[in-house]
Parts: sequence; structure tokens; C-alpha cells
Amino acid sequence: MPLHDTEIDTLVVGAGQAGIAMSEHLKNHGVPHLVLERSRVAEAWRSGRWDSLVANGPAWHDRFPGRDFDIAPDGFAGKEQVADYFEAYAAQIDAPIHTGVEVKRVTRNTGRPGFTVETSEGTLQARRVVAATGPFQKPVIPPIAPALPNLYQIHSAQYFNPQQLPEGAVLVVGAGSSGVQIAEELMRAGRQVYLSVGAHDRPPRAYRNRDFCWWLGVLGLWDTETLQPGREHVTIAVSGARGGHTVDFRRLALEGMVLTGLTQAFDGHTVRFAPDLNENLDRGDANYLAVLDAADAWIERNGMDLPLEPQARERVADAACITAPLHELDLAAAGVSTIIWATGYATDYSWLQVDTFKDNGKPSHQRGVGREPGIYFVGLPWLSRRGSAFIWGVWHDAKHVAGHIATQRQYQHYRAADEAASR
Ligand SMILES: Cc1cc2nc3c(=O)[nH]c(=O)nc-3n(C[C@H](O)[C@H](O)[C@H](O)COP(=O)(O)OP(=O)(O)OC[C@H]3O[C@@H](n4cnc5c(N)ncnc54)[C@H](O)[C@@H]3O)c2cc1C
Repeated sequence: MPLHDTEIDTLVVGAGQAGIAMSEHLKNHGVPHLVLERSRVAEAWRSGRWDSLVANGPAWHDRFPGRDFDIAPDGFAGKEQVADYFEAYAAQIDAPIHTGVEVKRVTRNTGRPGFTVETSEGTLQARRVVAATGPFQKPVIPPIAPALPNLYQIHSAQYFNPQQLPEGAVLVVGAGSSGVQIAEELMRAGRQVYLSVGAHDRPPRAYRNRDFCWWLGVLGLWDTETLQPGREHVTIAVSGARGGHTVDFRRLALEGMVLTGLTQAFDGHTVRFAPDLNENLDRGDANYLAVLDAADAWIERNGMDLPLEPQARERVADAACITAPLHELDLAAAGVSTIIWATGYATDYSWLQVDTFKDNGKPSHQRGVGREPGIYFVGLPWLSRRGSAFIWGVWHDAKHVAGHIATQRQYQHYRAADEAASR
């Protein structure tokens, strides 16, 4: 179908999990819509993730309600399986997706409702626009990154496998789920790895026969609506790799990974670290133990018969890098040939030229309903709750947004009795 001059009620931009969830709920409400995707369905899972990545949550949990994965429910789907899943899901709901079409500019119409949407395939009109372009659009490398000619530096989004890196030791900056999993993969591939660890949460992979996804669900923690003040930048370190295991930084250090505090600055070949490694590890441990405590209390309150797991509270000895943390490292002397910046992503809404952004450039919205009437967001972290950026969470947020759109359409179609009679 040619897109030029099309008029559509609701345009969804992006066909990742957020755009597909949106399409399903819009369809359920009978809302005419199109989904435009500049690349392929679920492209981020195909080309924006490293080769060995598996979903952080088990297949029974990290999915949409309307379809199971073709793997064991307790297994962790590989990134290609996740992409295949969404492709199959889009086909299952017959989502009206146009791939290979980039939305270049959205502007509000004046003197008439809706928006003018300029795309790589022509201009169209949409009454409403849903931005489902993902929370992780622009890889962010902090300005402290050194300009050293013989150092291979990439963002975690550009990391695919150990073979891609030049010989030598690796400094991984950032120990969220991406950083710690990449660091562990490199260590197991025989590299000397330095991992710069900031503040993090690290829930147990599983405890007393239940995955942490289950625990966060029954404890109501996925539904937490706002971050604790001061915890806004705390990353979560979990891994589904190698069948799933708890991220235990102290154990990784015993196995040979050198942990450091936050990376602060570079001076030529020398990198300086903040003296906060122990504080960060202690806070991560406290978060881990808090989940165990809450799980124990929940089991007792509910009289559940789940096996005891006292070994989950055992702490391994501290390696030398923890008892006497590095304050600086001469990269050349340590043979570090690569820095991987696992330092997160920013959003890019330069195409969305409407009045719905705060001074800091972040979308101004309430549960995905933008400040500018007719503009919506799905897929953002903490859009409505902790679960919002995760596969299953976005599905529920999309349901709310589609419900809002359906209600707006009722207002739009309403005519007073005298208006209707005079027609
Ligand atoms: C390394 C990593 C691992 C993750 N692992 C998990 C996990 O295990 N479980 C989990 O639940 N979540 C995980 N997430 C979080 C989240 O589920 C994924 O980031 C997911 O891809 C987000 O889906 P989305 O649809 O919101 O965005 P995306 O998947 O990024 O989809 C957005 C789409 O919009 C398209 N697009 C962007 N701009 C335009 C434009 N102007 N015009 C047209 N199309 C456009 C893009 O091509 C893209 O396909 C992970 C995230 C990362 C970074």
C-alpha cells in the first residue's frame, strides 16, 4: 500500500515489542492504525545485541500473554529467538506493519486536528502518534573517554563476541546487566578483564526454587511506581547466560576478574577509579539479601513449602582487588587493548517536533499519555512502573495507552442530539 497521502487514525512508530503490543491493543479496540518501522521487526534484538545474549527472564515470564516461546518455560530465549518470537507475534495478530520506512518528522497541524508525518516513503496524516522507538536508541559514551590511538573503544551496543576484539586485556566500564555479562564472557574466553563497578542492584537469579522474576512478581516489586529518590541511576545486574546464574561480583573477582570503582578520569594511558568499590559491592549485597529476606518472610506468611536455601547467604572470601582496590591503572603497562563502554543509552526524539518534552529533553507524559494531546509513548523505563521497559511490562502499558486512545475516539465521534439531527 503506498503511504503517500494516507490518512490514518493512529500511527505507531517502531515495530519492536512496544510497537507490536500497541498494535495488538489498538486492534482489540478497533482503532485503524499503521506501524512504521525503519528497519526490520524487532531489529534491536537482531543487530543491536551481542551474539550470545539471552533474555534476562525465563521464557514463561519474558513474553506477551498471547503466545509462548518455543523453548522450555524455565529456559532463557536467545536474542534471535526473541526476535523470531516477535516476528511470529506480529504475524499472529496480523499487525499492519510497514518495514523499511523511517519516520523523519512529526509536526502538529494548525487549524485542524492531527499531525503531519514525513516519512522516507512520503507524507501522511495521523490523528494520533505513538512513539514506540525504544528506550535504548543512542549509545552513550561519557566525555571522559580518552583519545588514544592504540586503544580499541566501543560501546556495549557494538560488542558482539570476544573474537572481534584485538588481543590483550579489556576494561569494561559499567556493571549493569550488559557490562557484567560481557565482562564474564570475556573472562571465560581467557581475557584479563577489569570491570569498573558502580551502584547496582543484583537480585538473586533464583531463590528457594523460584526465579527472581517470580519473586519480584509475588512481592509486588515489578509494580513499584517510582524509583526511590537517589536510586534513579542504579542499574540492575542479572544474567540468564549459561542457564541463568546470580551475578556475584565477589565470586567473579575470585575467578580472576579485577573489579574497580567507578571510572573517573583518564590522564594519558592512566585511568583513575573512584574509591567506591566496596561501598558499591556492599550496597549490591544489601539489595541481594533484602530480596532473600522478603522471600523468606513471604514464604512464612503464606505457609509455602519451598525448600530452604541457607547456602544462598554464604559469602565468598574477598579477592585482593576488593581488599586493596586499584585507584589507578596504567592501561599500557596492564596490556589493556580495549575499552568497552557499557554506560547505557539515551533516547532520540529529534523526529518528534511537538510540545511534549521537558527542559531536559525527556518526554512529558502520564503513563504514556503525552502532554501534547494525541502524542503517546510506550516502552520507556518506568513509564508506569518498574516492569515498563521489559517485554511483559510494555504489553500492559500499551493496553492502557490503547484504552486512552479508544476513549478519545469516543469524544471525537460524539455529536450532540441537535447537531446529529441537523445533519
Ligand atoms: C542489552 C539489552 C538486553 C535486554 N534484555 C532484556 C531482556 O532480557 N528482557 C526484557 O524484558 N528486556 C530486555 N531489554 C530491554 C528491552 O526489552 C529491549 O531494549 C527492547 O528491545 C525494547 O523494545 P522497544 O520496542 O521498546 O524498543 P526497540 O526494540 O528498540 O524497538 C524500537 C524500534 O523502533 C524503530 N525506530 C526507531 N526510530 C524510528 C523512526 N524514526 N522511524 C521508524 N522506526 C523507528 C527501531 O528500528 C526499532 O526497531 C534489554 C535491553 C538491552 C539494551
